[in-house]
Amino acid sequence: MSLIVRFRSRDGQFRLPCEANTKIDDLVAEIVSKAGNVDLTTVQASAQGKPIEFGKSIAELGFRNGEMVNLEYTKKAPEAVTHDATISGKDTVQIRATLPTRQSALDDELDAEEGWIKRGRSSLCRHGDKGMCEYCSPLPPWDKDYQADHNIKHISFHAYIKELNETTNKGDGSYIPPLSESNFAINRNCGGGHEPWPKGICSKCQPSAITLQRQPFRMVDHVEFLNSDMVNTFINAWRMSGLQRIGLLFGRYAKYDKIPLGLKCEVEAIYELPQRDEDDGLILEKWMNENDLIEVNRKLGLEPVGIIFTDLSDAGKGDGSVICKRHADSFFLSSLEIVNSIKWQLKYRNKCKWSESGEFSSKFVTCVVSGNPSGEIDVAAYQASEASEALLKADIICPSTHPDQMFLRETSDTRYVPEVFYQGANEYGVIVKHNASPSFPVEYLIVSLTHGFSERGMFTESSWVENRGYLGEPVQSIQSLPRKYTSSVESTFTNWHVLVFVALCGILSTEEVNLLLQRDPNLAESHGWKTLRTVSEM
Ligand code: ZN
Ligand code: ZN
Repeated sequence: MSLIVRFRSRDGQFRLPCEANTKIDDLVAEIVSKAGNVDLTTVQASAQGKPIEFGKSIAELGFRNGEMVNLEYTKKAPEAVTHDATISGKDTVQIRATLPTRQSALDDELDAEEGWIKRGRSSLCRHGDKGMCEYCSPLPPWDKDYQADHNIKHISFHAYIKELNETTNKGDGSYIPPLSESNFAINRNCGGGHEPWPKGICSKCQPSAITLQRQPFRMVDHVEFLNSDMVNTFINAWRMSGLQRIGLLFGRYAKYDKIPLGLKCEVEAIYELPQRDEDDGLILEKWMNENDLIEVNRKLGLEPVGIIFTDLSDAGKGDGSVICKRHADSFFLSSLEIVNSIKWQLKYRNKCKWSESGEFSSKFVTCVVSGNPSGEIDVAAYQASEASEALLKADIICPSTHPDQMFLRETSDTRYVPEVFYQGANEYGVIVKHNASPSFPVEYLIVSLTHGFSERGMFTESSWVENRGYLGEPVQSIQSLPRKYTSSVESTFTNWHVLVFVALCGILSTEEVNLLLQRDPNLAESHGWKTLRTVSEM
């Protein structure tokens, strides 16, 4: 009989299937190997407040289906070695400790894959069933022809790293980090023997000319909304008010099988940030409970993964159709929106062991809800490029009044702006280089992602949204909680907005909040939950 054991650790929650005779050591080993860099001498496990003895089976420990195990460990200072280590002298876990950073377990998983693209026998093959030739042998994940044939505009980030490693590190034992973050700022601590800029300058501290090209890769390939109702609820804010709306996406990153070594962002919920909305835009207001909200979501296994905003105008035809403002002849993301996206990306950095600095760009995405060429409401997903992050950090760019153009700032006493060019293929396929001063097309700063919907999320309901007082909706409070949620904990578990509110409302104890976040039905019997019910009925 197989059962599930749940684990809670500093790296998130895990659910592992096992048999009654499975040793607890095997399950723990699986998790610490995923976590990476774990100091195995510090691993401790406990269930129901009691320490667990390693070496015992699930049956011997008396675990029920769904048992929750707390796993504690510390992490080692990273070192560039590979070694074997053991837990309780028995189960061997191989841990690859690497450069001084810790990228996500997902990135480690993709690093471990080859990503070869398998091909079937082609009509040009002249060999038997067991043979292989240049027409049917597997292709590397960065193959340009495969990309062109499958209409893939950007290769995945991990395919890009593999390609760079292939050219930078030829397996002779030496290692050069294949990636370094772009840096376009002047070096104010130049060792060239002159007074620091702006009084002096030399070829060493002066940033060289920048040539912008379309970024060949993307950090995230696809955005998947795990329930379509949440997007519909979000759009309803505009339907009801005619005012634009912005939300923060909470979710996780996962492998995306449709692209070689691809990665997707799975969205579980949309948090509508405190904001003042207008019909042509909006202003973000102070977000008071940011840290608490992020912490609660971290315990749910969720993190901020992107933003979504509307740019909708009714077409005035009375059929619900909307104006298509964003297309190939106008723009997809305006210069102002790109600058905002870059700011979010600079806030949520991507840890990457292949980068010199330990970080490289961001996995944070930007989704726009606007009219498509058929006049339907549609979602489009983007990211700002890695180079654009460096341009903004060096204070070289700013938004212009033309949404399709980004301004290049001028050199001043506080800012040095190098020469900037942008290059791309013209209508004849010839590579042409243009001076980017005084402004340049925003399309050189973004990559587009695909998106889709599924119905496999943790939450099925998306009503009772926060920060919607301006719509005439009840402001979130214990008294305004719909009765159906306080009458059963199971209903509360289906709605992210309700669950997060209840977690932060201050009535439940820490232990009870943990039961809530584990969506444990035992919460119903707790003192805090009963108090919440009483207060909500007052
Ligand atoms: Zn062949
Ligand atoms: Zn210098």
